[in-house]
Amino acid sequence: MRRAVFLDRDGTINVEKDYLHRIQDFEFISGAVEAVRLLNEAGFFVTVVSNQSGVARGYYTEEDVEMLHRHIAAELEASGARIDAWMYCPHHPDGKGSYALPCKCRKPLPGMLKEAALLHDIDLAASIMIGDKLADIGAGISAGCRTILVRTGYGADHEKLVSASTQVCDDILAAAKSLVQSGLTPGRLS
Ligand SMILES: [Mg+2]
Ligand SMILES: [Zn+2]
Repeated sequence: MRRAVFLDRDGTINVEKDYLHRIQDFEFISGAVEAVRLLNEAGFFVTVVSNQSGVARGYYTEEDVEMLHRHIAAELEASGARIDAWMYCPHHPDGKGSYALPCKCRKPLPGMLKEAALLHDIDLAASIMIGDKLADIGAGISAGCRTILVRTGYGADHEKLVSASTQVCDDILAAAKSLVQSGLTPGRLS
């Protein structure tokens, strides 16, 4: 089985902007590309899990989300970094049409992590969720993962809300370095 790092997107990988969906508004958080590359090199299966309720609210489409993800992937690839799997939740209770359904994937529910585990043979108990919101931490805990809150995005505000079992790091690069340096990398599991 694989060991994954689940990454929130907005506020963790890229600068938080309300309902980001345009490529020209996308901006990596400093160190994010290096962080993903470190996780790749350490052998983690890097999976993005992102709430995108802007789809349900009619602010943008799933195609917009996927175009942005292709852009991010290309930017990462140009620097030798790679996201292994992309998951997003387009739903919201206040949304339109079929997007309003009560879903199991919107964080803090663990649906995206569990689905990724099934699809990609991931050992959730050996995996880590990194995000900037309490909802990310909740999803990670519900899925049985170790959790790291980053202080970027909403993280500085949400830091006081997480329990002591959640590690807190300044940003995604600090989190990745902490994981890699802890020696708990996949190659050393057995
Ligand atoms: Mg976020
Ligand atoms: Zn959903």
